Formats: sequence, C-alpha cells, structure tokens
Amino acid sequence: TGKDKFCFYSTSIRENTMKNAHMVNQIRYAIDNNEFLLYYQPQINLSTGEIDGVEALIRWLHPKKGFVPPMDFIPFAEETGYIYNIERWVLQKAFKQRNLWADKYNKDIKMSVNLSGKSVMQPEAVEVISEIVKKRPSALKYFSLEITETAVMANLKNAVENLEKIKELGIEIALDDFGTGYSSLTYLKKLPIEVLKIDKSFTDFVSNKKGDEIIVESVITLAQNLGLDIVVEGIETKEQLGFFKSRGCNIGQGYLFSKPLPPSEIEELLLANKIFSLS
Ligand code: C2E
Ligand code: MG
Ligand code: MG
Ligand code: MG
Repeated sequence: TGKDKFCFYSTSIRENTMKNAHMVNQIRYAIDNNEFLLYYQPQINLSTGEIDGVEALIRWLHPKKGFVPPMDFIPFAEETGYIYNIERWVLQKAFKQRNLWADKYNKDIKMSVNLSGKSVMQPEAVEVISEIVKKRPSALKYFSLEITETAVMANLKNAVENLEKIKELGIEIALDDFGTGYSSLTYLKKLPIEVLKIDKSFTDFVSNKKGDEIIVESVITLAQNLGLDIVVEGIETKEQLGFFKSRGCNIGQGYLFSKPLPPSEIEELLLANKIFSLS
C-alpha cells in the first residue's frame, strides 16, 4: 500500500467487494424500475379480534431471483445511503395506502412502518416525514413508526432529538424487536416511545418448556408500568396467544392470525369485516 504500510490480500475480500458492488447496482436499478412492493401484516386487537392496523413490510421482487427478503438488502441499502430513497418511497406508499383503505372501508386502521436507524438519525428525517404526512393531518394519529433499539443506540442523543420532533408531529413511535439488542432498560425511559413490540424470540419463550415465561412476564409488567402499549410479535400458536391475551397485551401479530399479505388480500379482510378467533 506504499510508504511503510502493507496489508494482506485475499480473494475473499475481492469476491465480497464485487458481490456488494453488484448488489448496490441492483438496488439502484430496483428503485428506478419499481421492483419494490409493500406487503402488510394484520395487527390484531387481542380483546376483540378485530384488525387494529397493519405493518408495512417491504418486498423486493427481483426479476431473476424472485422475492428477496428485506434482511438480504436493507443492510446494503443502509451502508450505501439508498435506504433514504427506499424509505421515502415506503413512507409515501404506506401513508397513501392507509388513507385509501380508511376511506374505502370507513375504518381508521393504523399503519406501522419500519424505519432504519440511519433514516431516523439523518438531519432531514423530520422534514421528510412531515412533508409526507402533512397531506392529511387527521391521519397522523393512525401512523406509527417502528424503530429498533440497536438502531438508535449508535447515536442516542441525536435519535432522541429527532424522535421527539416526530412525536410532536403526532406520530406514534414504537420500539421494535424489544429484547434483542444490548441496550439497558433505562433507554426505555429516554426514548419517546408509546408502544413496545415484544420480539418473537420472547414470544417463543412461551411453549419452549424451559420456564422462561417469567422473563416474558417481567417485560410485560415493565412495559405496562411504563404506560406503554404492547404489540406481541410472531404469535404462532394458540398457547402463545392465550398467554399474552391473559396478561393484558393489547395487540398481537403473527402467522397464527395472518402472514404479511399483498394489498388485495388485506382489502378482502377489510371488506369482510374479518374478526379473528381468540380462543
Ligand atoms: P420486523 O419489523 O420485526 O418484522 C417482523 C418480521 O417477522 C417480518 O419479516 C414478518 O414477516 C415476520 N413475521 C411476522 N409474524 C411471524 C411469525 O408468526 N413467525 C415468523 N417466523 N415470522 C413472522 P420480514 O417481512 O422478512 O421483515 C424482516 C425485517 O426487515 C423486519 O423485521 C424489519 O426489521 C425489516 N424491514 C421490513 N420492511 C422494512 C422497511 O420498509 N424498512 C426497514 N428499514 N426495514 C424493514
Ligand atoms: Mg417491525
Ligand atoms: Mg419486529
Ligand atoms: Mg423482528
């Protein structure tokens, strides 16, 4: 590398770099060619079985590879800054979709959107979001942004500042995947969140027969004592549903109710006034 420095070279470095560069090109192409879609997973009110809202989950329909899972491209998009373009599109699309459904089915369903830590932290975040939601201020309270603890930990002060401003707009902030990061519990007090999403790994504690329910119960109690609403992720069994329902968790989401669905299938549920069984 010149001067007195040297570094080792390995073919895997080159292969990785090439793979990444290829991925980056494909993401750029995908943005320009509308290869991204949104699917929506119903969030169920655990007292009534009604659809309380939906979570928008991005899908990349690659012309050759088919569906590429978000976890395979979101990290690249974050590294390269394309995440800003992608998420601006997601926010616009999801907000419009919510309003369309609210009008068409006369139901004020809630729309939750995942936001990467990078997006939350960027100085223009609040401006970008308010530009999108100002078209319909009355819908703000039915809009929720999901952020993860690991995402905000990198720059807590900055994140809190932006999140406070977003909350002031009237948008709800939910802490996603709670329990998977390494943050301390004091973050819960510092972040302006109103909802805590219990990660699927905790949901799985219920029924693994290892007596781990006590941990889950403590998390539920903690959230309740902090006055937070609870959304339980990844409910797959009736046993899990019963456990969380009986402990007063508000909302549940998971394959037991429904997988993430294309918009047409969400419309069918809304049209049918679908009530999910809670027993
Ligand atoms: P997440 O926000 O925690 O979303 C929940 C994930 O769990 C989704 O995976 C969903 O399909 C899956 N899931 C829901 N219920 C069940 C269940 O009962 N069992 C199992 N095994 N899985 C369930 P998906 O759609 O692959 O998304 C993965 C992650 O990608 C999301 O995790 C979120 O962090 C991220 N993501 C998705 N869309 C976006 C987006 O628009 N922007 C950003 N920044 N991230 C996104
Ligand atoms: Mg989420
Ligand atoms: Mg989650
Ligand atoms: Mg998750």
